[in-house]
Amino acid sequence: MVMTMKTTLEKGKHIIRTLTRHGHEAYFVGGFVRDRCLGIDTDDIDITTNATPDRVADLFDKVVLTGEKYGTVTIVLEGTPFEVTTYRTEAGYADKRRPDQVRFDATLEEDLARRDFTVNQLVMDADETLHDYHGGLADLKAKRLRTIGDPYERFGEDALRMLRAFRFVAKLDFTIETNTFEAIRSLAQNITHVAIERVRDELIKLFAAPHKHRALKRMQDAGFDAHLPHAQAGIAKLAATELDYDAEVAFATFVLETPDAMDTYKFSKRQQKLFRATFNLHQQTRETGFRPDHLFQFGKATCLFVNTVNRILGMPDAAADIERIDAALPIRAVCDLVFKGDDIVRETPFTRRRDIGFIIDHLVLEVINQRLPNKRDALRKEAARMARTIPKENGHE
Ligand code: ATP
Ligand code: MG
Repeated sequence: MVMTMKTTLEKGKHIIRTLTRHGHEAYFVGGFVRDRCLGIDTDDIDITTNATPDRVADLFDKVVLTGEKYGTVTIVLEGTPFEVTTYRTEAGYADKRRPDQVRFDATLEEDLARRDFTVNQLVMDADETLHDYHGGLADLKAKRLRTIGDPYERFGEDALRMLRAFRFVAKLDFTIETNTFEAIRSLAQNITHVAIERVRDELIKLFAAPHKHRALKRMQDAGFDAHLPHAQAGIAKLAATELDYDAEVAFATFVLETPDAMDTYKFSKRQQKLFRATFNLHQQTRETGFRPDHLFQFGKATCLFVNTVNRILGMPDAAADIERIDAALPIRAVCDLVFKGDDIVRETPFTRRRDIGFIIDHLVLEVINQRLPNKRDALRKEAARMARTIPKENGHE
């Protein structure tokens, strides 16, 4: 029989029913339940169960052991991934970022008690009945973030939870309950103990969320921004702007304000390249505005990206210039020049690689600045003229 299950929710229920049919407990948990209560759709489903990872792996066909150490396996059901985590308790957080001991013999209530905020410990069974062990529904109704238990203790265990509080402010537009907020204010410094990748990934989510401006302001109110590595100056600019921006623009702003941020956040190679280009283009465009050679070299998307960063740093909007210059570019790549390297070798006295490169760069600049047409005759004449002006020892032989 071919089963066709439609929604992610139905697939999740199938997983939960499979587990319960085999004598285990299993519930939807975390952001999925929280968001569902708030009427926010999400396909990102977490399931909590008392079945061990091995047992879960036995019951389903497609299982990836994603975080076995923490009891998490990923079940892929008809292309949709589900994170299934075994009930656990954690003990001892000597280093303020990860438990010294994880035990998998916990009850549901104990598993929920180790979670961060009351609104994140709601569980829902396959019949869509909610269970609330720690006052999450009242906080959800009041749009309030409150740690489960003593916030000083909970942030002392894992300092990332403080950043997560701001991330949920950015996503949900909730307030942070006073005692929870005061705990962040006094423990903010502990965030420096957390692995940079975890910090970066929460920041990415924060910057992708709709209420990020408010979240950044609250971060500043708590003095938390000062303890995020190489971020305070960037956050000051981001908190002050009215513009919308994404996580990459935000990190580029960090880098421009504090160049050391570049090596701190372990960006991908592509991002490092983008941020270096942004750094250089920012310096140049501050003096000359966007030029045809910028559009030619970096492309429109990167120039518009830099324009957003420039605006956050107080420069005027140059989007219209970028569009105009881009539309007018006579060529978009070196190979679009009609007079090519081979032609230079054949029809001018230049033969050395270095000289040919030099001539081509010059011809490209002439063409994109519309001082010369992209025509063989005009380009050959210009190359010949250069042959006469370049001194022998620096140029051709
Ligand atoms: P989102 O929908 O934005 O992903 P989420 O609440 O599902 O939000 P996740 O990071 O996916 O957040 O974590 C899933 C759940 O695991 C949380 O709701 C929370 O119950 C628990 N959790 C995650 N990180 C922590 C942490 N550092 N400390 C305690 N509990 C945590
Ligand atoms: Mg989640």
